[in-house]
Amino acid sequence: MTYSLNCPYCEEDHAVNHPGGYAPIYVDCAACDNRFIMEPARQGVAVFKIEDAPCCSDPECRELEYGASGND
Ligand SMILES: [Zn+2]
Repeated sequence: MTYSLNCPYCEEDHAVNHPGGYAPIYVDCAACDNRFIMEPARQGVAVFKIEDAPCCSDPECRELEYGASGND
């Protein structure tokens, strides 16, 4: 599934491939060199700056919190 979204730092357009499901993933912005988080939602997609993302929307934090078993 490909999502269209904008970098929360510089507003650059991105077309991001997501493997499916609702797990958040990191996206690296080539335009401003920042990393942000995209999380598919039932309607559309949520985008977070790393520092603004709640733990449940941060891939690394989720891994620490729920284990790396990958069951979602
Ligand atoms: Zn950017």
